[in-house]
Amino acid sequence: MKICFFGTSSAIPSAGNGYTSFIVKLGASIVLVDTGDNALSRMLELEIDPTQFDAIVLTHEHADHLGSFPALIAALECMNRSKPLRIILPPALTPRVLKLLALFNYYPGQLHFELSFASEWNLTSGASGQDGGARIEQLPGNHSEFTMMTKFVAEEASLLYTSDIRYRPGQYTAPARGCDAMIHEATYSSATLPVETRHSSALEAGMAAHEASVRQLFLCHFQSDAYTSPTEAAEEAARAFGGSITVPRLMRWYTIQAK
Ligand SMILES: [Zn+2]
Ligand SMILES: [Zn+2]
Repeated sequence: MKICFFGTSSAIPSAGNGYTSFIVKLGASIVLVDTGDNALSRMLELEIDPTQFDAIVLTHEHADHLGSFPALIAALECMNRSKPLRIILPPALTPRVLKLLALFNYYPGQLHFELSFASEWNLTSGASGQDGGARIEQLPGNHSEFTMMTKFVAEEASLLYTSDIRYRPGQYTAPARGCDAMIHEATYSSATLPVETRHSSALEAGMAAHEASVRQLFLCHFQSDAYTSPTEAAEEAARAFGGSITVPRLMRWYTIQAK
């Protein structure tokens, strides 16, 4: 399994770094996670054909995660995509996504490609036959809006993306069981974490990774003024977690290391 980040910013982007969004290569399948900003342009930079990727995971309704979804669908329609596209999302989010599309006069069933909605995807039945045992599932998270953590499982490795989340002891143990890696938001540093927040600090991301017994932690969803240097978040997480910690560079592939 491989991941590549298109952006690692929070709802306030910084120069050259947009909203948190990334690509997962899961067996032979390619999945976009949250729509960020201009994901298709980023795909083209990676030489991924936008008419051929397989699925989009949507985690929750905030604009930095979902806002560019209609423009992305519009672009795929203009490109005459014919390959079906799966949208993996919390069931409660489906009506809102349909409303967003309708705002621009796009309706599933009237597109060149089939658009299907589900909260999990078992790739075993994939047409390629190359993805046996791979799956994507969503598990409830803890944020200001209804949100889902997303688990990616392939034969060789497994990964939990917590999306936007307020750290709470105990909430990672079951969802992360058996996972090799975790992607956790670190919107704030401990010093800048607001008293009333629905986000986490880098230290809490480290605590989550320790609790989940993963070996690799990727940090993302940074507020631009929360840290004094790019390495500060990793150093803070390392106070609670002894495994590998990565502040991802954009547009670079990272391999999820299996046990
Ligand atoms: Zn966000
Ligand atoms: Zn959010």
